[in-house]
Amino acid sequence: MRPLAAHIDLDALRHNYQLACSCAPQSRSVAVIKADAYGHGALACAQALEADVPAFAVACIEEALALRAGGIKKPIILLEGIFSAEELALVDQHEFWISVHSEWQVAALLAFSPRQPIPVWLKVDSGMHRLGFSPEEAPSVWQRLANAPQVTALHLMSHFATADAREGSYFNQQMVVLKRLAEQLNAPLCLANSPATLAWPTAHGDWNRPGVMLYGSDPLEVANEVTQQLRPVMSLRSEIIALRELGIGEQVGYGGRWRAERRSRIAVVAAGYGDGYDRHAVDGTPVLVNGKRCAIAGKVSMDMLTVDVTDIPEATIGSEVVLWGASSDGTVLPIDEVARYCDTISYTLLTGVLPRVPRHYH
Ligand code: PLP
Repeated sequence: MRPLAAHIDLDALRHNYQLACSCAPQSRSVAVIKADAYGHGALACAQALEADVPAFAVACIEEALALRAGGIKKPIILLEGIFSAEELALVDQHEFWISVHSEWQVAALLAFSPRQPIPVWLKVDSGMHRLGFSPEEAPSVWQRLANAPQVTALHLMSHFATADAREGSYFNQQMVVLKRLAEQLNAPLCLANSPATLAWPTAHGDWNRPGVMLYGSDPLEVANEVTQQLRPVMSLRSEIIALRELGIGEQVGYGGRWRAERRSRIAVVAAGYGDGYDRHAVDGTPVLVNGKRCAIAGKVSMDMLTVDVTDIPEATIGSEVVLWGASSDGTVLPIDEVARYCDTISYTLLTGVLPRVPRHYH
């Protein structure tokens, strides 16, 4: 068997969820498990969290249906609502909650006759300028929904554009808009993603919506005492499958991007961009070999990558290589650090792990 797997630590997931709850004890935290729980496996993660969470959030009805088919009973909110009016019958049948961000969704809902009223979160565009009703439109839409027999448990929701940044002026502008609306409508709120849950208590509403922090990634520009307690949920682990001795000036891999400046030992590792490891990883991107830090040397290939193990003499065929997460000896390579070397964010690395990488649940 090819020695590559994403090891998923479900205790760490539960630990991180409890941390999210502890940041906002007055709020209920819906666990965001869209995009297959950020690549971790939505059903396994939902099963692990179901006893603790009041609700789950996914992007679309396909994701929600897969959870129901797997036996998940807790409420599931569709963060982008319906994509066609026909979906409302399934929403009703499976008792999903929906967000509404556009007039056509409101019209479809008000033309529908559900068996029981549907919980609805009205999405307001407070500054993201992506989905949602403008703050000017929102009050009249709210009134129509509040008076509709099809609707129950109406909430106001919004999404932040800059909650991860230390500098808070844009975040505060969004909050001013939202506070005004919430007071005017006397609306229960659901606003906070992970960074707002962690760093902006003013955004804590009746509900929060933490996502990436549940998986152990720190979304803040500057870590705080809570993010330091997050534990990685996914550990992407492989092994050394070959070793090379190189002389000074010899090159490694496509394009010869890396050249030996001293006599070097290069390890070949069974993980590549065909597994979802980011091809933008530069020379110097850290990995752990037997729990010790060393670095990528040469461009990432489809099925393998190369690592300079000159300073790890004990590295041998079969030595454990951690691309991110925890090694078997407990040493951690934070995914956020790897993401910086790839000029990306942890979200893309996690959701990018491809199906040929088996997930092993612990
Ligand atoms: N709420 C909405 C509407 C989202 O789109 C997302 C993620 O993109 C989240 C919450 C969770 O965000 P995060 O993973 O940053 O906690």
